[in-house]
Amino acid sequence: MDDIDLISNKIKGCKLCRLHEKRTNAVPGEGDSKAKVVLIGEAPGKQEDKAGRPFVGRAGELLNELLRSIDLSREEVFITNMVKCRPPDNRDPRKDEKETCSSYLQKQLNLIDPQVIVTLGNHATGAFIGEGEMKKRHGEEFIHEGKKLIPMYHPAAALYNPNLKSTMKEDMEMLNKQL
Ligand code: URA
Repeated sequence: MDDIDLISNKIKGCKLCRLHEKRTNAVPGEGDSKAKVVLIGEAPGKQEDKAGRPFVGRAGELLNELLRSIDLSREEVFITNMVKCRPPDNRDPRKDEKETCSSYLQKQLNLIDPQVIVTLGNHATGAFIGEGEMKKRHGEEFIHEGKKLIPMYHPAAALYNPNLKSTMKEDMEMLNKQL
């Protein structure tokens, strides 16, 4: 078992915050443990909680399509979330939940050591480059602890506002240029 699986197993048994009480499954993340790209969403939703896998619902289908637009498959990247357990009724993850869970994300990033980190949406982007920055700075390149980081809209946002899909495709092209 490689170390990424050890981290996943720890996450699956984690009881460090209140979110473990109502989860069906923790969702550690999945993909290539040597991926060049790590994509970070917010938190599992209902379907992800059921499946124990990230981005398996409609937002996930769109994410797959966006990845395919730059010839990447899910298997080639690593997909995870800021918070590994579903917040009840899909409420926003709380500050203490994000803080408690961040050590898992940090360990995953250290191990995978990707070329580029992609933060999807406000929560993930806020944790890395500051609250409220995603709308202004999506598609730009940042450096976080020596690694490139590109903030993007969350795919769920493009489900509500289909105009954002072309913006997300442009941001994916920015990612493609970094690879
Ligand atoms: N939204 C997220 O942020 N993460 C998932 O895994 C699914 C939907």
